[in-house]
Amino acid sequence: MLKFAPLTHTYMRLLAILTLSIATLQLSAQKPVNTNTNNSKPKLVVGIVVDQMRWDYVNKFSTFFKSKNGFLKFMNEGASCNNNLISYVPTVTACGHSGIYTGSTPAIHGITGNSWYDNNLQRTVYCVEDASVQSVGVENSAAGKMSPVNLWSTTIGDELKLATNFKSKVFGVSLKDRGAIIPAGHSADAAYWYDSKAGKFISSTYYAKSFPTWLTNYNNSNKVDSFYKLGWNLSLAKSVYENNCDSDLNDYEAKPFGKEALGFPYNLESFVGKDYGKISSTPFGNNLVLDVALQTLVNEKMGQDSVTDLLAVSFSSPDYVGHAFGPNSWETLDGYIKLDEILAQFFTALDKQVGKGNYTVFLTADHAVANIPAFGAKHKLPNGVISDDAIRVELGKMLTSKGLSAKLISAVSEFNVHFNHALMDSLQVSQDKMVTLVTNYLEQKNNILQVVETRKAASAPFPESIRERIVNGFTPQRSGDVLFITKSGVVGGGYTGTGHGVFYNYDAHIPLLWYGNGIKKGQVNSVNYMADIAPTVTTLLGIQMPSGSVGKPILEVIQ
Ligand SMILES: [Zn+2]
Repeated sequence: MLKFAPLTHTYMRLLAILTLSIATLQLSAQKPVNTNTNNSKPKLVVGIVVDQMRWDYVNKFSTFFKSKNGFLKFMNEGASCNNNLISYVPTVTACGHSGIYTGSTPAIHGITGNSWYDNNLQRTVYCVEDASVQSVGVENSAAGKMSPVNLWSTTIGDELKLATNFKSKVFGVSLKDRGAIIPAGHSADAAYWYDSKAGKFISSTYYAKSFPTWLTNYNNSNKVDSFYKLGWNLSLAKSVYENNCDSDLNDYEAKPFGKEALGFPYNLESFVGKDYGKISSTPFGNNLVLDVALQTLVNEKMGQDSVTDLLAVSFSSPDYVGHAFGPNSWETLDGYIKLDEILAQFFTALDKQVGKGNYTVFLTADHAVANIPAFGAKHKLPNGVISDDAIRVELGKMLTSKGLSAKLISAVSEFNVHFNHALMDSLQVSQDKMVTLVTNYLEQKNNILQVVETRKAASAPFPESIRERIVNGFTPQRSGDVLFITKSGVVGGGYTGTGHGVFYNYDAHIPLLWYGNGIKKGQVNSVNYMADIAPTVTTLLGIQMPSGSVGKPILEVIQ
């Protein structure tokens, strides 16, 4: 045995080297082909939120997209996560923008609604209100008293700033204040949003006391009026809309352009020089946001060096259009055809300014939307309407009829019923009694599935994934004592228009598209969540994930 030992040793070494070489060969063969010639980190990340975009629009509308450079660029050259869901309620704008950029849920980032009843302050708070700051761009505008101080966790932009000793440039642009401020984060350079009274983009002293000259010049160019003069005309032949949408004229559509404006083409000329809020309900709102986003890109010299910058852009007009006309309308289809052209312009500008392969884009939505209830009724689908205000009045009457005070309910907001604990203490009404009274009353209502005591949501008789969404949306300071869960198709509001805010897939299934530096091309069909977006971006950039992030990086989209 000993005699052969040296030979065996050599043989074993040879074998080891050979095995190792084969393994190395196999490894390199398995390595995905990097289609990106630039292996460094992206110089710019662009986050695009399309307010109220349903996941199914991507497929439904794709045949009408003329450009290969808009939505189809993500589909053909990037990645699409086809089963991306929102893991909390309520599914509304402020929670959505917070969830995307913090990788978290209202339970942790604190944004429990567009506004909420604050149990400590005992008043309704708007998500981005900040009385300590002033508007810039338009003097003394109430629309400018805004900042991200109510957001409790850090964002992608905050972590990018921390990772680069604050050298990264971070900007947010949107029509809606919350669509610009929340995505930009706490340490952003600036957020720009639209003051619908003035018809101008503004910011607040939270970011800087001065306002950029280029944005003053843009405001003075009065683009809104020139869009009003053009009017809203269909992009494609009338037959396309007739064949693919609900009829153009329905009594269940809201009429944001006035009682007389019944359908296409929309003459908007009467709004010139006034009514600057009307632009939000037209596709031109997206043109304004694109203009300001591209000017920010150029004037702030974003994506020009090795330090990664972040541009967070939110297109709010699809939400205004969707609320008024619904997801099956001519207006929604035409709005997306026009948004596709805007995305194509955006990509062309990014290629020119930052360079192909030097930037990464993700596109998602803050929430989706329900069908208009009357449209549902027309097609024998589950439907109904419910109103927070009406529920509050009814609960007050119920309490009075039991010899109690209507004031025991402080507020009803986003289907949350807030109890007045100070009054309960002084009248010696127990929490259990209030929960029982409110639950027994609301659970008899036709549109309500069940009522959940929010603190005990983890043990509610619901499928676990739905229970989790209630828990993920709860925070003691800013949530109600009980939450009523509506039946499928039931929308908060009245007869005309539609809304969103619940866990059903029409509200909670959103698109998630990726393109550019570091992105692996393909379709991802496994289920992932809105909270996964931020950790995916931070993994791509090699930086810390936001402080409250509870998501997981989507490894299938990372090269
Ligand atoms: Zn909305």
